[in-house]
Parts: sequence; structure tokens; C-alpha cells
Amino acid sequence: MRQAEFGVIGVGTLGAMALWQLARRGCDVVGFEQHQPGHQLGAAAGDTRWVRTASEEADCILLMERALPLWRELERDSGHALLDLCGGLYVGPPDGDFICGVRQNCDDFSLPHEVLTAPQIRSRHPQFAVADGEVGIFEGAAGQVQASLSVAAAAAAAQRHGARLEIRCRVEAVEPRADGIHVLASGEEWRFDRVLMATGPWGRSLLPDHIPHLEVERFHVSWYPIDSSARRGTSTEPILERQGADYIFGSWPSVDGLTAKVGFAAPADRLAGAEDMHQAVSPAVIELTDEYVRRWLPGLVARSVRHVMGMDAHTSDRKFLLGPSRADSRIVLALGMAAHGFKMSPATGAAAADYLLHGESSADLAGFLPERFPVLPFLDYRSA
Ligand SMILES: Cc1cc2nc3c(=O)[nH]c(=O)nc-3n(C[C@H](O)[C@H](O)[C@H](O)COP(=O)(O)OP(=O)(O)OC[C@H]3O[C@@H](n4cnc5c(N)ncnc54)[C@H](O)[C@@H]3O)c2cc1C
Repeated sequence: MRQAEFGVIGVGTLGAMALWQLARRGCDVVGFEQHQPGHQLGAAAGDTRWVRTASEEADCILLMERALPLWRELERDSGHALLDLCGGLYVGPPDGDFICGVRQNCDDFSLPHEVLTAPQIRSRHPQFAVADGEVGIFEGAAGQVQASLSVAAAAAAAQRHGARLEIRCRVEAVEPRADGIHVLASGEEWRFDRVLMATGPWGRSLLPDHIPHLEVERFHVSWYPIDSSARRGTSTEPILERQGADYIFGSWPSVDGLTAKVGFAAPADRLAGAEDMHQAVSPAVIELTDEYVRRWLPGLVARSVRHVMGMDAHTSDRKFLLGPSRADSRIVLALGMAAHGFKMSPATGAAAADYLLHGESSADLAGFLPERFPVLPFLDYRSA
């Protein structure tokens, strides 16, 4: 039987960040990934991720504030440029829930921002349409991050710091015993003092009775050709976000100079589990997204030319599961990132590393603790 101090199951977004954190703290750690770090078959699909703070929920803002310097640290450590702080523009009616919430966050957390009128937005960012009377809140410390590259860079940096990485290696079983957590991976048995479950949308497949219920949802992003004549004169492009009662619409700056990525996230494209993932996109979703592009993004040709479906998991309260499992505190969970976990993943990974090393992390993560949900206990192997 092989053994190490810590095992990280799933080297996707969260797992790679936790592996990096543990390895750079000198820990003896092994990561297991069923595909390759940076693959596009799970929650990190779709090239890039928004990074923004002002439109996050209050309890995530503290994580975001920790994440931004860690992104820069990962860039230095890995030698890759990952984060592009091109700014974020949040647009809507001044008295709508979305803009009021963003303004409240800016005030409560002293987030630097500018409030722009509709004519100011049109003059500074002619690639975005705005309705008369709408306002924009511009956050300079927002932008986008490379998705696959970030995961691959964190995993490679972890290896350079001494982590072992088992790739194309599927964990088949996790079993707590008196002498440690036993893990069966590609037919081989391992023993760890503690393990991190960072299996993303595959979340509970290993310990379904002992991990709180997670829903799995698909999310669609598409790419639209840039109409270069319409964009003439604009030198920078921030990320754009608009929110309605039941949707988030937005765009990411181009990474290829030819197309820009657009997302229209409306809830409830549910899957029974990650195994049911598929790439089909309904014509209705395509038409709806095209319509929003036609209306709000005049700099793009309103016919999508590429589509990607990704999936993510969430709890019933749409907050993360981050902390020791209620069933056995030697198993730490970093799951259910609810479609917005990428931007803060370096901080979430650091918190997961704290839980593995010390059994606790900073008190302001209390709202994410898995103990808020009941689960079945493990049978008492200690007295067996
Ligand atoms: C289309 C889309 C757009 C998004 N946009 C944004 C955005 O703009 N900004 C933002 O912050 N967030 C965004 N998100 C959310 C964010 O990407 C996710 O919250 C985050 O990537 C979740 O990471 P994870 O580690 O939980 O899952 P993953 O990154 O999927 O990692 C889980 C890993 O575990 C591995 N694994 C699972 N089971 C096993 C096993 N038994 N053995 C070995 N390995 C296993 C998987 O192969 C996978 O690599 C978006 C999500 C989607 C789908």
C-alpha cells in the first residue's frame, strides 16, 4: 500500500489550487485526476472566467479580496500570465436590484469604483449599448482569467514544489478507517492522514451518503465574431455584466481578436449527474443569446459561431461546501462552487489547505461549512 500525508481527489479548479498551496507549504501530498489538469470536460470549460468582486455576494467578497494577490503569486510562481485586470462594467437601471446590490457592496467593502451615466458609457465603451437612464458601475480591479491554463499552471507549480500527481487516474473508493483514509485509485490502494474531496460536478459519486446533496447544472457560453468596423476607436474592453431577476448576461473581452465570448445564464438546465453531461444546445437558448447580443453588444455580429457547455455543482442554498466533512473530519470538502467559484479558487484552495493542515480556517468562512447539512455518519470502524 502506498501512503502520504494528504490526498487531493480531483485536480480540477479547486484541487489544483489546494495542491499548489499544500506543496508550497512543504506538505507530502498526492493529487489524483481522472483526466488531465486543465481539461475542458467539467467546470473549467470555456476558455476564460470572469474575475470580479463588486457583484459577488457579501460572503464571497472576503474570499475575492484574498484571491487577487494569490492570482498574482501563482503567475509569479508558474511563470504564466493568467489574470487580465481589464475592468468590469455592471449595467442596469439605477434603482434595480442588481445595481443597488453592487453599490451596496462597493460602500460596505470600500471597493474602488466609478459610477457612469449612459452617455459616459456610450462614449467610453461604444461596444456596449445602454438604455437611456441606465447607469454603469465600473470596477477597475475586475477582468478575466485563463481557465485551463490556470488549472494546469497550479498543478505544474505544485509538482515543482514536490507534490505527486497521478493523472488519468480515477479514484474508485474512499474509505475512512482507524489508521487513516484509504483510497482506491486505478486499482491501487493508498493511505492518507487526510483527504480533500475536490471532485467538482462529479461531487458525491464517491461518498453519496456522506456528502450533502449537490445539484449539477449545465452552463452555456458562446462566441460571436467581432465586427471590427463597429469597434473602431475602442482600445480597452472590460467584462460586462447585466442581471435580471432570473438571468445573468455578460461578455468577456476577446482573447483571439476575432471573437468575443458571451454568456446567458438562466437557471435550471439540470443533469441527474456529471455522467449525463452532453454538449447539445437548444435552438431556443441560441436564439435568446443572439437576441441579447443584438440588443446590448453592437460591436458583435449577432450570430454565434462556437458553443461550449460546461457543468458545475451547487448546494440547495447555492453556497459552497468548504471545510471538514460532518461524517469524518479527516475528509475535507471543497465542492459545490455554484457557477462562480473560479475567480476565488486560489483563496478557496488556500482555505482547503488550512482545513487539511490545521482542521480550521478563518472564522469568516463559517457560512460555507458542510456541517449546515445533515449527512449519514460512517459506521463506527474505530470500535470494529
Ligand atoms: C460555462 C461556465 C462558465 C463559468 N464562468 C465563471 C466565471 O466567469 N467566473 C467564475 O468565477 N466562475 C465561473 N464558473 C464556475 C467555475 O468555473 C466553477 O465554479 C469551478 O471551476 C468549479 O471547480 P471545481 O474544482 O469544483 O470543479 P472542476 O474544475 O470540474 O474540478 C473537478 C475535478 O475532479 C476530477 N474528478 C472528479 N471525480 C474524480 C475521481 N473519482 N477521480 C479523479 N478525479 C476526479 C474531474 O476530472 C475534475 O478535473 C463557470 C462555470 C461554467 C461551467
